[in-house]
Amino acid sequence: MIERPASVIKELVENSIDAGAKRIEVEFRKGGTSLMRIEDDGQGMSRDDASLALERHATSKIRNAEDLDGLLTMGFRGEALPSIASVSRFQLQTRESGSDEGTDILIDGGRMVHTRDCGMPTGTRITVSKLFNTVPARRKFLKSVATESAHIVHCLRLYALAHPEIGFTLIDDGRILFQSPACAALLDRVTEIFGKQIASGLIPLDIEEEGLRLRGLIGKPTLSRSSRHEMLFFVNDRPVENKTLSYALVESYYGHMAKGRFPVAFLFLDIAPELVDVNVHPAKREIRFREEAKTRGFAVRAILQTLREESEALQKLKPVAVKRESPPPSTPRPRLTQSGPTLPKETTRPASPSPKKEAPLSSSPAKAETELPAKPAAPPPPSGQDWNYLGWAQSEFAVFDTPSGVMLLNAGAARQRILYERMLVEFASKSVECQKLLLPQPVEFDPVSAALVEENLSYLQGLGLELAPFGRNFFRIEGVPNWLEEGEAEGFLKEIVALLRQGSLSNESEGVAIEMIAKRAALRGVRPRGEPSSEEIASLVAQLFACEKPLSDPEGRPTLVEFPSSEIDRRFLRKPNRRSHDPFL
Ligand code: ADP
Ligand code: MG
Repeated sequence: MIERPASVIKELVENSIDAGAKRIEVEFRKGGTSLMRIEDDGQGMSRDDASLALERHATSKIRNAEDLDGLLTMGFRGEALPSIASVSRFQLQTRESGSDEGTDILIDGGRMVHTRDCGMPTGTRITVSKLFNTVPARRKFLKSVATESAHIVHCLRLYALAHPEIGFTLIDDGRILFQSPACAALLDRVTEIFGKQIASGLIPLDIEEEGLRLRGLIGKPTLSRSSRHEMLFFVNDRPVENKTLSYALVESYYGHMAKGRFPVAFLFLDIAPELVDVNVHPAKREIRFREEAKTRGFAVRAILQTLREESEALQKLKPVAVKRESPPPSTPRPRLTQSGPTLPKETTRPASPSPKKEAPLSSSPAKAETELPAKPAAPPPPSGQDWNYLGWAQSEFAVFDTPSGVMLLNAGAARQRILYERMLVEFASKSVECQKLLLPQPVEFDPVSAALVEENLSYLQGLGLELAPFGRNFFRIEGVPNWLEEGEAEGFLKEIVALLRQGSLSNESEGVAIEMIAKRAALRGVRPRGEPSSEEIASLVAQLFACEKPLSDPEGRPTLVEFPSSEIDRRFLRKPNRRSHDPFL
């Protein structure tokens, strides 16, 4: 249990904290092997209590069995003082508040040397010297003075972080290593210990959910480290080592941080003590959670939410420079690039592309413009030829003058039709080209959906959704089909998973399934946009008439509505055709 000098410090500092100390001073020499002194201004002990404390299993801290369960210290209670006293020269000086005299007990290698009165302020001072002098086997395992000192410093820093309200002083061989008065907040303590540079790069976090609370400070993604040394965890205010929390933290920063770099974090989890297993390794701080998946899921959500809020806050600070009209460069969509202010007269369907040979397996933007799926079909009455683009109306319609009247094109509906037919081909061949996200997006599923996703990773990949599992019920969206806006990725994925769950994507009804997916894709992939240029309109018309069913959107609603000149004449109470000869007659 007492492995090294730092374990002595840990036990004694914990006792001082438990005794309600407001100030704790720790001094050591030669890595703690020659001397350690821990002094507090806590409640102290009476002479009887002091004597009792040095007997094995003499703890004052367990009142009933539940208490025992709830204790977050290691191993059995009431062993620290006698264990330390048995392998050192151990002096306990203590005075209870309200008592006139202090008590001084000296034990050497487990043998009582004296018990006597002493004068001292209220509190407890324990001086441990000649550690392991009588136990050469233990002494042999000690590392260099520098290493043992480093362990002590680390240990004291942890407790100082866990208790900003207590003043700490650490002295190495007469030299003050750090001194921090009681602090109002964790951030002040962090600034004291780690300096302003780290402190200024931290984001506060405090999130509560179903009896769990995670609070503390996490580093902005720009504050990365080459090791995990500044990822510090506390459970119910005790410093701990815990893989669940450590993994949750690192994974939450995935994509925010280069490979091999680690975040800075001072995280405090408050959890019912009965949900914590402390007996994993009595000599270490390792703990385990009884409800590991739940705890981990909570931690990931809390950290992600905090990071998201931080980046949103940053976004708000930035001046808006990008107009929504054009899609962000990272998500190219089929661009409409034909030029010319009016429609090209030769806009006709492709002669007869064979879908097998020319199916657009890749959806790179360049190809998307030219390789739209198109089967020859009986030419519909309008063809886009001889249409003269007049302008943009009602935020969604392109207006054309045609030889037979006035035509309104619903641009959104047309885009959906175009995307839908392209998706049909791409999904059927299950080879949608996937575009890697700069920042992978974490998504959480309920357990049943998560299992489905896990089973269908390659199916989803075929639909252009690249996913990587990251812990129970969590996945990262690493790539999306490149027609999809990043912000739509999660919604689209969840729709597909819902279809999977309904059994709608079974092999027997694959055709139906593909239509369904393509429909959702078309709805997701086409966002309202501002006024298109006349070049874009020209290209849109060309692409629309290259579709198999250009006259309706995927839901069967019209893409085009014509007002024939005959109808217009009738509304104007004119005889047909007069207008074209002489409008003023
Ligand atoms: P535990 O902390 O598990 O109770 P320890 O062996 O560490 O066992 O301490 C035994 C008892 O000694 C404690 O329960 C407490 O009553 C008393 N004690 C130890 N250190 C202090 C201290 N610094 N101030 C007051 N009481 C103390
Ligand atoms: Mg103790």
